[in-house]
Amino acid sequence: MKIHHLGIAVESLEKAVPIFELLLGHSPDSTKEVRDQKVRVAVFQVGESRIELLEPSSPDSPIARFIGKRGPGIHHLTLEVGNLQNTLDTLAQRGVRLVHRKPRDGAGGESIAFLHPSSTANVLIELLEERDRKQADNNQEQRDI
Ligand code: ZN
Repeated sequence: MKIHHLGIAVESLEKAVPIFELLLGHSPDSTKEVRDQKVRVAVFQVGESRIELLEPSSPDSPIARFIGKRGPGIHHLTLEVGNLQNTLDTLAQRGVRLVHRKPRDGAGGESIAFLHPSSTANVLIELLEERDRKQADNNQEQRDI
């Protein structure tokens, strides 16, 4: 298992990206729009993990609601697991509240599911299983911007 990425809610990519460029010493590895989640995302590769800056693309985006309630900042932590369905089943058996009982398609074509923060120290945790790259490209729903 590893930390796959950290999602950070920002009000403006235009303002936040230069700060992370300064900090990390390089520009974003990709920028994409995830229409499903109504966010624009700037992805910085950091070693084996990533930092994803999430800017709402619409006032009814989940990220806009998060910023409205709690202000900008760390939004979720994503752990990569070997078998997502098995992990979800095991956690459910042990009483962990799940947002998703079944894996769903992530923005990059991976399988993802969220755990409910009430079960995880009030931290929103996303679990992710990487899929075969070729399949991932076919399933890609985002478009590069
Ligand atoms: Zn994420």
